[in-house]
Amino acid sequence: MSDTIEKVKCLIIGSGPAGYTAAIYASRANMAPVLYQGEQPGGQLTTTNDVENFPGYPDGITGPEMMTQLQKQAERFGTDVRHGWITKVDFSGDIHKVWVNGETEIHASTIIISTGASAKYLGLPSEQKYLKLGGGVSACAVCDGFFYRNQEVVIVGAGDSACEEAHYLSKLCKKVTMLVRRDEFRASKIMANRVKNTENIEILYNTETDEVLGDGQVVTGVRVFNNLTDEKFEIPATGFFVAIGHKPNTDIFKDYLDLDETGYIINAKPGTSKTNVDGVFVSGDAADHVYRQAITAAGTGCMAALDAERYLAAKDADFEVATSTYN
Ligand code: NDP
Repeated sequence: MSDTIEKVKCLIIGSGPAGYTAAIYASRANMAPVLYQGEQPGGQLTTTNDVENFPGYPDGITGPEMMTQLQKQAERFGTDVRHGWITKVDFSGDIHKVWVNGETEIHASTIIISTGASAKYLGLPSEQKYLKLGGGVSACAVCDGFFYRNQEVVIVGAGDSACEEAHYLSKLCKKVTMLVRRDEFRASKIMANRVKNTENIEILYNTETDEVLGDGQVVTGVRVFNNLTDEKFEIPATGFFVAIGHKPNTDIFKDYLDLDETGYIINAKPGTSKTNVDGVFVSGDAADHVYRQAITAAGTGCMAALDAERYLAAKDADFEVATSTYN
């Protein structure tokens, strides 16, 4: 443990579009934010190839490049961007305490949580290989479906997300094969019926993934097996979509913040970024299981910085509101 405790006005946890947008707004509002990047600097977008749906990039941009630019923009206005991750918090008092890498203690007047969520994957080595290569494995149909226009794809999962994504893909792709591991869907009836009634979606029940097949660079198919008969067969496909759920990165906050049953942080006041702890705000996928887009994360990052600024202005007479947002 360190002897000196650093005091900051605004601590931002996480470095996806939510965290960096919060940092841009907070630094322009004289809050001198410190941002810890977390275990995956740049967040989920660093595992995406081209981002074509973020406004302002008519030619698209790669996920990692976008994150580098957002970081530069935050640093340009004075954000102190640091490597390291927050391992423990104590939100029991007026001053919010956090520990970095299990050692350094920081006291923050305001905290903006932008820790995101992680898509769950099957964990097969072949799946991870083509995911890392950017060669046809994805956990986001809305982000990547466009790259598989008029092609054949496979999607795993049977919840509402899988149904929504399969339906989305069916409008772009020639054929969508859906792998359902049980003999029924988990999804709501209406969502399941939608995929059942879509002509170019084929549903294979009791079917699981054995191996993602490829040529070393890109996906060429999927070998699957029927878990009742053990029969194995191959499905040609250029895309392999995994839609088996997300896990919000919120474990360290669970003793202090209200979370839903999956672990998403609950907004104490809908339409704001407030949590149930005064001075602690949330942005991005850590509180959003519905939209989960870079642009919505950025929007809520902006909201969190403005809410934090307003909170500081009300608490601390010496802190001048730098924007004219709250006239
Ligand atoms: P869910 O946890 O609801 O569903 C996950 C699905 O993935 C299940 O069908 C599960 O199978 C399957 N699965 C899990 N692990 C594996 C594996 N290793 N191999 C194969 N299949 C696997 O997650 P969702 O992301 O679909 O939904 C999360 C929440 O968000 C839900 O409450 C949902 O209702 C909500 N949501 C609502 C939407 C809407 O209303 N428009 C849209 C999207 C999500 P099994 O069933 O066998 O366990």
